[in-house]
Amino acid sequence: MERSLVGDLKSLPDGNSVVVKGWAQEIRSLKNLVFVVLRDSTGMVQATFKRDNFPDMDMLSNLSRESVINVEGKLNLKSKSKTGVEIEATGFTVLNVSESPLPLGIIDPVEADFETRLNNRFLDLRKPAKASIFRIKSSLIWGIREYLHRQNFVEVQTPKIVAAATEGGSDLFPVKYFEKEAYLNQSPQLYKEILISSGIDRVFEVGPAFRAEEHNTVRHLNEFTSVDIEMAFSDHNGAMTMLENSVKNGIESVLKASSKDLETLGLKIEIPKVPFPRISYEECRNIASANGVEIPFGEDLSVEALKFIGEKFHDFYFIVDWPSSLRPFYTMPNEKDPRYTNSYDLQYREKEITSGAQRVHNPDILKKRFIEKGLKAENFEFYIKAFKYGMPPHAGWGLGLERLLMILLDLPNIREGTLFPRDRTRIVP
Ligand code: ATP
Ligand code: MN
Repeated sequence: MERSLVGDLKSLPDGNSVVVKGWAQEIRSLKNLVFVVLRDSTGMVQATFKRDNFPDMDMLSNLSRESVINVEGKLNLKSKSKTGVEIEATGFTVLNVSESPLPLGIIDPVEADFETRLNNRFLDLRKPAKASIFRIKSSLIWGIREYLHRQNFVEVQTPKIVAAATEGGSDLFPVKYFEKEAYLNQSPQLYKEILISSGIDRVFEVGPAFRAEEHNTVRHLNEFTSVDIEMAFSDHNGAMTMLENSVKNGIESVLKASSKDLETLGLKIEIPKVPFPRISYEECRNIASANGVEIPFGEDLSVEALKFIGEKFHDFYFIVDWPSSLRPFYTMPNEKDPRYTNSYDLQYREKEITSGAQRVHNPDILKKRFIEKGLKAENFEFYIKAFKYGMPPHAGWGLGLERLLMILLDLPNIREGTLFPRDRTRIVP
């Protein structure tokens, strides 16, 4: 007989013969009965075994928790058991025995510390509320991808082992590449732009980005998922519209495909209204100043300043027109006042979700920007070359997928939304 998923049992006729497969989450032995709570990826069901019908009942009643079993039986939809549906078992098979004790309890009322959970992530993810986070992440990226496809973006894959640092800087992981020194890429920026010169016009990539940042915070990983776009014949305004709609479509996809998982997490989320407010860097400085936090021109908005700004604008908003000193060399200077740039960050309250900008497309300005930023242009010849033979004006952004997930689900730590996080001290599992 074919396997039924626990979540589908309610829609089958009462009294039907069924087979379910999953983990023995709880086993309770009474004098004449044994109850097993079986869990699969879709839910839990109680199976009831009458001892009289099973000569080998001791094998089941002594079975260790989290063993994998197969249960056959008759469906009872009128059950008063806590799982609502019950299976009156007619047979069972043990498919694989679990060792005990478990390094991490699945149904312990007190949650284990985060380190223990991450060290035993496969068990941690057996808890429905933990698995739900990753189903939602899947729906979220699906919605973003779907929107970008509809806007005629081509999904691309660019190298993660590279010879030059995207933004210079020291936040790089070196790798030995035969007789050469190479790095893990911080961002697909340079490759996205080269592809704009190829005439593909609109590209996006979902892939890992590596940052050798020493700090250990609740919103930084050393490897995260970057969602990047680059679009030709557009500017920062066009790219911002694409961003807010991508985020909105991602959230709509979560609501459509993952409503059960949101319920499991006890969360209600709303579809954000677009367009998101646009606030300039200078306005942000003024708001900070009005709250007693002085940000000198050209310096980054501090966490403290962003708290006040976030309180004022709520949820999603853009900070636009950043000063040149704070943005990478490839950022387009503002045509009226080159102290500023055509750049933006997408924020959710005090947290940064995305950085983006119109990019420089003139190779001479680009070379000037390299010098201003103290970078060696010769390391970037492969990149500059793509600007010399007809590079269209273009713009784009890079969004941290785990950051977006974190704010959407109000996760206390970005690692909660990362299956196997990489941080200052963790590379296993
Ligand atoms: P932050 O200032 O928040 O550390 P950043 O300005 O250094 O970020 P960008 O280079 O602008 O980061 O990267 C684009 C996006 O990628 C960020 O807006 C953020 O969502 C995400 N991101 C950047 N660094 C990390 C990281 N270490 N861990 C997780 N996500 C990150
Ligand atoms: Mn940024």
